Amino acid sequence: MKRRDFLKKAGIGAAAATTATAVNAPFVQARPKVRWKMVTTWPPKLPYLQDAAVYMAKLVEQMSGGQFKIRVYAAGELVPALQTFAAVREGSTIQAGSSVAYYQAGKAPAAQWFAAVPFGLNSLGMSAWFNSGGGLELWEETYAPFGVIPRPGGSTGVQMGGWFNKKIETIDDFKGLKMRIPGLGGKVVSKAGGTVTLVPGGEIFTNMERGVIDATEWVGPLHDKIMGFYKVAKYYYYPGWHEPGAFVEYIFNRKAVEKLPAEYRAILDAACAQAGAWTTQGFNASNGQALRDLIFKKKVKLMRFPDPVLAQLKVYAKETLAEIAAKDKQAKKVNDSYQKFSAIVGTWGEISEKPYYNAIADKHPLSG
Ligand code: CA
Repeated sequence: MKRRDFLKKAGIGAAAATTATAVNAPFVQARPKVRWKMVTTWPPKLPYLQDAAVYMAKLVEQMSGGQFKIRVYAAGELVPALQTFAAVREGSTIQAGSSVAYYQAGKAPAAQWFAAVPFGLNSLGMSAWFNSGGGLELWEETYAPFGVIPRPGGSTGVQMGGWFNKKIETIDDFKGLKMRIPGLGGKVVSKAGGTVTLVPGGEIFTNMERGVIDATEWVGPLHDKIMGFYKVAKYYYYPGWHEPGAFVEYIFNRKAVEKLPAEYRAILDAACAQAGAWTTQGFNASNGQALRDLIFKKKVKLMRFPDPVLAQLKVYAKETLAEIAAKDKQAKKVNDSYQKFSAIVGTWGEISEKPYYNAIADKHPLSG
């Protein structure tokens, strides 16, 4: 388009177009002032989670030239941790949130697939499913009845199996075990005979300390170290079979988004993508050092779940997914897409990631 045509189309008279300033000034002034509030599931300052929500808001502010501002509140500051989705859905004063989709399982069972699937995709696989395998469309469809729009918010990578005060030597050791574990992983532990509780991050330490629970999973070495679980638990188990590529979600009230100019919607998308990438990279960059600190400075006892235990948990996981899918139409649709995509990505992983990891297996020994 020639410059003159553009100006004509934009309804700007020739007289106003004599200098660049004159052309640009009305455009800048036309950007509306928008003020939003975002609530999160995270304790204050939690790195790459609460910090990422704050970073996302800062990006929005910068990209909009200061016109679109989102004020971020940690868990409990405006609403309790697990009320994030409900607050965004209601939307009268809170337009945005940062949470994890498995916390919405009670309202929408299918939501759990967008957070973490036991023995499912890792973070690379989840990203690929969201962006190139129809996963994000299904996520939007799952939240549409609630008037909420989701965006992936970055991944923790493979989590740790959790903190235990009882040893897990056989699958029977889950019987009667009181464990804090959310999402599909929690349902698998229930199937193994455990008693599952769902308390938000800020309450786990006290529950472990008082023996209200025998075990808890949280995230990975960096976050677990900050929470101080090594002070109240004997064993630190791996791998995090229950959350192999857990994703954070950014959620937005649909009506609030629809009121935004297209430019601001694009800014929101770009900010979510950038903050999400920062989250994924931050976890990957920090967990190795944090794990070394836990083992060598805090003298944490690292334990691997025995293979027969993992094998049985995998059987329970498969049953769990099938049972939920049989009861909920949207969960079935999402699970079908997820499994189909997993098979395709897995085929490639079998000859790319897997033999590569095996080939470098002795390159990074865990020693002081
Ligand atoms: Ca977790």
